[in-house]
Amino acid sequence: MSDIKPHKKIVIAIDGFSSCGKSTFAKAIAARLGYIFIDTGAMYRAVTLYALEHGAIRSGIVHEEEVVALLNQISITFRFNPERGASDIYVNGDRVEGKIRTIEVSNCVSAVSAIAEVRTMLVRMQQEMGRRRGVVMDGRDIGTVVFPDAELKIFMTADPHVRAQRRYDELTAKGDRVSLEEIEQNVRDRDYQDMHRAISPLRQADDAIVLDNSTMTVEEQMEWVMERIAAL
Ligand code: C5P
Repeated sequence: MSDIKPHKKIVIAIDGFSSCGKSTFAKAIAARLGYIFIDTGAMYRAVTLYALEHGAIRSGIVHEEEVVALLNQISITFRFNPERGASDIYVNGDRVEGKIRTIEVSNCVSAVSAIAEVRTMLVRMQQEMGRRRGVVMDGRDIGTVVFPDAELKIFMTADPHVRAQRRYDELTAKGDRVSLEEIEQNVRDRDYQDMHRAISPLRQADDAIVLDNSTMTVEEQMEWVMERIAAL
């Protein structure tokens, strides 16, 4: 694997479908380059968790105005956790990393992330975090909206069965009781909702390069991306 680092700090934008392994990939690239890794999905999940805990989502229904009314009470911060080799997310000083990846949050997050005010708040934060460049950011709209000027844009995709299986393995390893069918349904629903929302829908930026990792190992993906970075 080449050890070439771009001499100037750049922004690497990684967008794509749910459960493609975007965060794992982004984290590995950031570690390799000594960059900051920012998981923007965690930010949308944190807002969703807060809305669930404060009654703005009831019986799976997201009450948009109530979510918006909560936004000025939410302060999101990240703190590096050396054990994970990545930053943990905090809401109002509470570490919520372990609570944001449940199926309950996953089932509501796409509706919350379709709210204009939520996006405005989080996009602003993301742009601020990447202001000095040297970041690898993963999400749905990084190459199209947050950093349209990112030096490297990757659009990740993989077979939906493979993605559901990966997410299922991850959740069951943590002891969550979920079914593969439920996970696959969630992955498909989120893809659909994320691609069809009115504001900043998930789409491949014109200048993004596609990475289908259905049959690739993390090492192979790293080799692939390091070649692209070396060619910049
Ligand atoms: O990346 P992850 O699957 O954790 O993201 C959770 C959800 O957050 C996505 O399904 C999408 O609805 C939303 N999201 C978004 N824009 C981003 C990142 C995530 O709308 N930049």
